[in-house]
Amino acid sequence: MLRLEDVLPLLGDFASVDAFREAMCAVLRDNGVRHADMRREMEDFTEASERIRYDCKSLQNRYGYLGSEQACDICGTPVQSRAFFLFPCTHVFHSDCMAAEMKLHLSTEQIAAAADCERRQQQLLRQLQDVRAVVASSGGLAKVPTGSSSSGGTDKESELLQAMAEQRQKFDSIVASQCLFCGDIMIASTSQPFVTTDEEKAAALWKI
Ligand SMILES: [Zn+2]
Ligand SMILES: [Zn+2]
Repeated sequence: MLRLEDVLPLLGDFASVDAFREAMCAVLRDNGVRHADMRREMEDFTEASERIRYDCKSLQNRYGYLGSEQACDICGTPVQSRAFFLFPCTHVFHSDCMAAEMKLHLSTEQIAAAADCERRQQQLLRQLQDVRAVVASSGGLAKVPTGSSSSGGTDKESELLQAMAEQRQKFDSIVASQCLFCGDIMIASTSQPFVTTDEEKAAALWKI
């Protein structure tokens, strides 16, 4: 269908548009309504993105309480003995127990990415220990140059700590993106048999 907007550019600068007046007014009215709708939609999107930003910010400061005797929901030993994850559903897992269990459910790429994060963290930790050893041996006077000349007053130690925190965050987002017992993983695993083939073979060995 030919629209008025298609015809208008073909008219000369001095052409009389009396015959189109009604149609032009209708088009302008339509455009006005559409413009108002779009503006309302944009305001809704802006409001939604602000709410999401606020939620993300408040997520960083969310906390929970743990009893001193609270046990890891995987291995059953006290959870505060080492690094752990506490989920809003109150399930709590040691970081290494969770990683080991999650590796059974993650894709090969995700496992490789998590292993890479762990390797980088170990490297950074070794570098940090070296830096601290140098500073300690000089009685706190040594200044270790930073990796990049543009980092200004940031010293090597905080640069390494920052890099370690980034790797840790990346690792957490892969391994602890959801609770092992309440997330999609548990729902997907309901179709898997309770007894694995290896366990069946082990049980067969005990048959009398
Ligand atoms: Zn554990
Ligand atoms: Zn849970």
